[in-house]
Amino acid sequence: MEPDEDVDALDAYGPIVDEVIAGRTEGHRCPVCHEGDLDCTFDGVTIKLTCPKCGRFFEGALS
Ligand SMILES: [Zn+2]
Repeated sequence: MEPDEDVDALDAYGPIVDEVIAGRTEGHRCPVCHEGDLDCTFDGVTIKLTCPKCGRFFEGALS
């Protein structure tokens, strides 16, 4: 069964977002391609996770 990529990715990014907010911005494997090391930035408000391998990214903001 093929997972729905978008919904699945959104789900997979959740725990990574939590860790980046907690200060762990390194060593997160891309949940989409499972090969890239995510480039994670968090400036206190906006969080952005980018995969240099497949180019998929996630962006969100704390409310
Ligand atoms: Zn990737």
